Amino acid sequence: MRLFAAVRLSEEVRDALVKTRDELLRQGVRGRCPPPENLHITLVFIGELPDPEPVLDMTDAISFQPFPITLGEVGIFGGGILWAGIRPSDPLEHLVKRLRRGLAEAGIPYDRKAFRPHITLMRNMDPGKGLPEIRLPGSTMTVDRVTLYRSDRGKNGMIYTEIG
Ligand code: ATP
Ligand code: MG
Repeated sequence: MRLFAAVRLSEEVRDALVKTRDELLRQGVRGRCPPPENLHITLVFIGELPDPEPVLDMTDAISFQPFPITLGEVGIFGGGILWAGIRPSDPLEHLVKRLRRGLAEAGIPYDRKAFRPHITLMRNMDPGKGLPEIRLPGSTMTVDRVTLYRSDRGKNGMIYTEIG
């Protein structure tokens, strides 16, 4: 199965993001919008793995002091991915390092690209008449656990299922 570890968003943060996105749509921006329940912050992308058990063992063994994160600015990756950033956070960086180390120690491969904490809001984004000024609300939430998801291609887009 295709696996990734992520932060689940609080309802407040998710609602704030959906509102911002709705405002962009009203202003003529177009793109594929993942459903609100799909919005997340990927911490580590593992990809295909036959058995999630060793990953669950590793994530279960990680405990940390809950910490706050705050929405930052909006950005665009090549290929029309519109994303919401997270303000720089040492505890978040540290958590990702621990996850990566845990996976490496368990011999589980993962994506080693630099960590760019973000929430994908839209894909194949077409700014229409030009991307309007967007400001995200400075919504804050507490990170108190890591969630492991499996990702499956559904008829109408990706389906993420929480497995731990
Ligand atoms: P699609 O690939 O169809 O656009 P998706 O990206 O939502 O859908 P997945 O490819 O399964 O679904 O990815 C799940 C999560 O992991 C997403 O947040 C995605 O951005 C991230 N991700 C996917 N591939 C990588 C990768 N190689 N490195 C880092 N993160 C990745
Ligand atoms: Mg993908």
